[in-house]
Amino acid sequence: MDDRDGKIWMDGKLVEWRDAKIHVLTHTLHYGCGAFEGVRAYNTVNGPAIFRLREHTERLFNSAKILRMKIPFTPDEVMKAQLDVVRENKLESCYLRPLTWIGSEKLGVSPKGNTIHLMVAAWAWGAYLGEEGLKRGIRVKTSSYTRHHVNITMTQAKAVSNYSNSILANTEAVDDGYDEALLLDASGFVSEGAGENIFVIKNGVVYTPDLSAGALNGITRNTVFAICQDLGLKLVEKRITRDEVYIADEAFFTGTAAEVTPIRELDRIELGAGSRGPITEKIQTAFFDIVNGRNPKYAEWLTKV
Ligand code: PMP
Repeated sequence: MDDRDGKIWMDGKLVEWRDAKIHVLTHTLHYGCGAFEGVRAYNTVNGPAIFRLREHTERLFNSAKILRMKIPFTPDEVMKAQLDVVRENKLESCYLRPLTWIGSEKLGVSPKGNTIHLMVAAWAWGAYLGEEGLKRGIRVKTSSYTRHHVNITMTQAKAVSNYSNSILANTEAVDDGYDEALLLDASGFVSEGAGENIFVIKNGVVYTPDLSAGALNGITRNTVFAICQDLGLKLVEKRITRDEVYIADEAFFTGTAAEVTPIRELDRIELGAGSRGPITEKIQTAFFDIVNGRNPKYAEWLTKV
């Protein structure tokens, strides 16, 4: 991805895509302390706009706070950086990746004495789990890897290091012929996907694991909460077991990259009718209406580029 035209915002300046480089002795590269965001812009009915820009930026600053990193920019500057990157690269619908990392002044586990950096890149990126997956649902495998325990890493930080667990789980699932992994927490309860929150539907009620299962507090998850309220659907946050997923009527993943992706199978067991369920479809339609600017109630969630 490094050899392309375009601009990346790096420490306050827009630099050529190919020149957005860091040193091999960068602290974060060695010890994994860094934080990032995944954000999407949509080409809405009112033109390109970033979805829930403020919430993503706030989560980035919260992740940095949890990791004891002081971002040397204000949230307003980081929001402007994201808008600038979309505009400068003449993008419409795209994915944005802000990342903050520790510099290369010195190595050793202690990060003290190092500078903190920030970059924002953006590029066109379609459906993360495939267009087909959005329509027909995906096949998921319960991972042999346990999700982080809440006092082993900080699960409310979107920390770079947390993703080694996601990579192991996703790679195992894909190598075994599935689309994505489902991770259980250290007590065996359902936590989340490698990069998605999970919801299950039973008898018309929507359930999702509470955050004590170590799942990230997803912004799409929160968007689905609002959608459920609008649709008059009861939503319950609770501990969920893997067999509750097996016998659910419907299930779906949420995430900025994954959007609202139905799950049609877990561990080769068909969920419900084995396709996108009717309630999932309603939630998905409401989601795409919101992000594409077709629901004026949520106009403030879209920041025009
Ligand atoms: N869990 C994990 C581990 C993730 O990486 C993501 C994607 N950021 C999510 C959940 C969903 O979060 P969001 O809806 O804010 O993208």
